[in-house]
Amino acid sequence: MNIKKIIAIASAKGGVGKSTITALSALSLSNDFNIGILDADIYGPNQHIIFNIDNLKPEIVQKDSKKYLKPLVSNNIKIASMGSILDNDKAAVWRGPMLSGAIKQLIHSTDWGNLDLLIVDMPPGTGDAYLTVAGELDLDGVILVTTPNRLAINDTIKSIHTFNKLNVPILGFIENMNFPSIATEDIFLDKNIERITQIPFDENIYNMSITNTQNLSDEIKFFLTNIINA
Ligand code: ADP
Repeated sequence: MNIKKIIAIASAKGGVGKSTITALSALSLSNDFNIGILDADIYGPNQHIIFNIDNLKPEIVQKDSKKYLKPLVSNNIKIASMGSILDNDKAAVWRGPMLSGAIKQLIHSTDWGNLDLLIVDMPPGTGDAYLTVAGELDLDGVILVTTPNRLAINDTIKSIHTFNKLNVPILGFIENMNFPSIATEDIFLDKNIERITQIPFDENIYNMSITNTQNLSDEIKFFLTNIINA
């Protein structure tokens, strides 16, 4: 098992598009690279739904007396998500230590094979999941997602403090759900944090036809290709 680069997609606020941007990023690269997605949103996993594999269960394989989970594969992307393990209509009602245990298990018991890039879809917040992911994985960096709205920007600033404390490099941010027709907030986070791209509010994304939206992710593809090749 060899994973070249690992990045997280994060924001303290929920609903700004972390899962969507994770999926768009993976899709933009999956023809050229071996890509994995680790859905670390244990309470509200979404990747299995976005990729339409919510009816599949991962296979368990035995290797050197240890059991591993085979990630599900869609569009040439390997996906490990608690959503594929738990029943779809059941929520994980766990305290912090159990949450951390579940994330650790997904991290260490998934048989990723060789990957060029593992993208970790983070849950909202700044708590346990962040400490666990930053502690267990050697992250090459994080991409923040925000909408051009004061509440989201305010929470993104909290994410910056969190990742600075955890010593995880912030690679840049993506402005999602930009509405050209309405006045939105100017995003100013920090002059050292690059805006990678703006993604408009898009009907295909909203209707979960995410494979029809690859034209929106050219800049993400360029940015992440440079990270893989660095
Ligand atoms: P998060 O992971 O931050 O909670 P999601 O990726 O689940 O956010 O997105 C929240 C909702 O917004 C979903 O219904 C998603 O389909 C929708 N959405 C996200 N980005 C866009 C976009 N650019 N255009 C239209 N809908 C979007």
